[in-house]
Amino acid sequence: MSIRLAARTHRRARHIFTRPRARGSRFGVLVIWAGVLGLTTLFVLRPWSGGRTADAPEQTGLAPAIEHALRLGASIPSRYHGAHVSSPPAGFSEPLVALTFDDGPHPDVTVPILTILSDRSIRATFFVLGLQAEKYPEIAARVAAEGHVLANHSYSHRVSTAGEQTAKELDRTETLIYQAAGDSPLLFRPPEGRTDTALTSYAIDQGFTIVRWCVDSEDWKHPSAETIVANCMRDMRPGAIVVLHDGGGGYPDTPGALPLLLDRLASEGYTFVTVPEMLQAWDRFLSQQSTESTDIS
Ligand SMILES: [Zn+2]
Repeated sequence: MSIRLAARTHRRARHIFTRPRARGSRFGVLVIWAGVLGLTTLFVLRPWSGGRTADAPEQTGLAPAIEHALRLGASIPSRYHGAHVSSPPAGFSEPLVALTFDDGPHPDVTVPILTILSDRSIRATFFVLGLQAEKYPEIAARVAAEGHVLANHSYSHRVSTAGEQTAKELDRTETLIYQAAGDSPLLFRPPEGRTDTALTSYAIDQGFTIVRWCVDSEDWKHPSAETIVANCMRDMRPGAIVVLHDGGGGYPDTPGALPLLLDRLASEGYTFVTVPEMLQAWDRFLSQQSTESTDIS
């Protein structure tokens, strides 16, 4: 935002600089000083006018709960609050892909994955288990600090829960996400992708977006790196959400397959986005479509 603002101000300043010649030198000097003052002010105030970046969270001075609510509003389009998502809308053709990693964080798997992603400046979404985030808070914090999105995959990965246990599974994990990242997009991926559970109903009531996937790497079956890539490419399409795993040492082939998968997707022209960014892209597409259909009628 600040770059656009700077460009606009620069254009405006250039316009001002061309005016004095026609109107006399004293007025010209005044206008030049005003321009210099304006640009200086812009540069001084720039840190407050720009968007939030991964390594320098914006300090707004608001209460965390209000800040959280504002970010949630900005991050996930309202049409997806309390809704299920898995596949891009029909006709979506932007070559975007959202990689997601479930069941971490774990030192043996998450850390090498983070290194691979950071070497290529790629950001992804990590659906963490509260249990793991509690055990490895420094890795959860690193995931967030490197610009990835932390999202909720329950506390213990139990599919069947009842009563207070249901709320604890989500709320406790949400607290851990908040502690690691400073905010949360309220995204929930149910254990095993099961949506017919008390956990999923509770998450919907709380306004979470229920995120499944349309591309399954099947890395949980422990196949070779080549098979993981082939599984992913089988159903790949613009706007896809891909499920991979970074959980507990049981998925040694996922970091091995990742460079191959990233190379393949990059060679096919894909850009990597987080789940919130993907939902924003879907939302823009759907809004555009509804505008066009209104224009026609
Ligand atoms: Zn899982």
